[in-house]
Amino acid sequence: MNNRMTFTFQSISENVTIARMLASALGAQLNFPLNELEELKVAVSEAVSNAIIHGYQNAPAEFVTMEIETTSEKVMILVSDSGCGIADIDQAMQASYSTDPERMGLGFVFMKSFMDELNVESEVGKGTKVKLVK
Ligand code: ATP
Ligand code: MG
Repeated sequence: MNNRMTFTFQSISENVTIARMLASALGAQLNFPLNELEELKVAVSEAVSNAIIHGYQNAPAEFVTMEIETTSEKVMILVSDSGCGIADIDQAMQASYSTDPERMGLGFVFMKSFMDELNVESEVGKGTKVKLVK
């Protein structure tokens, strides 16, 4: 069945868990096998964490949006923030690249390897949109 929904939530780390549960519910409805369900959950968590941590530097007054579309086989999730944006997307997507020395720089690597499709659009000072398809 085709389904569409939009989920907008405050930029606080507690909401990563909720986004993850939503991803899990969507994958379960599509009968994703357990390993693919886990992959979807990780990819969504990474995209949402990035929006909160990097896009908004954890500012709780800001909002992250997940636009979701499902068909009988696929789920598309567009995670967007209107935060600081990414100056160089190719560089940001490289393994081990992070602007935070405390971090691993693996979020995009997981998103890319766990999803069938990953597309990132960003503008400095305007925000970032991460499209995930599986
Ligand atoms: P990890 O995900 O392993 O904790 P990380 O978040 O730094 O580390 P990635 O998720 O791969 O690694 O992101 C790489 C870099 O891209 C980040 O360090 C950050 O500079 C930038 N970035 C990612 N998402 C956003 C975003 N939504 N807004 C602004 N910058 C972002
Ligand atoms: Mg990350």
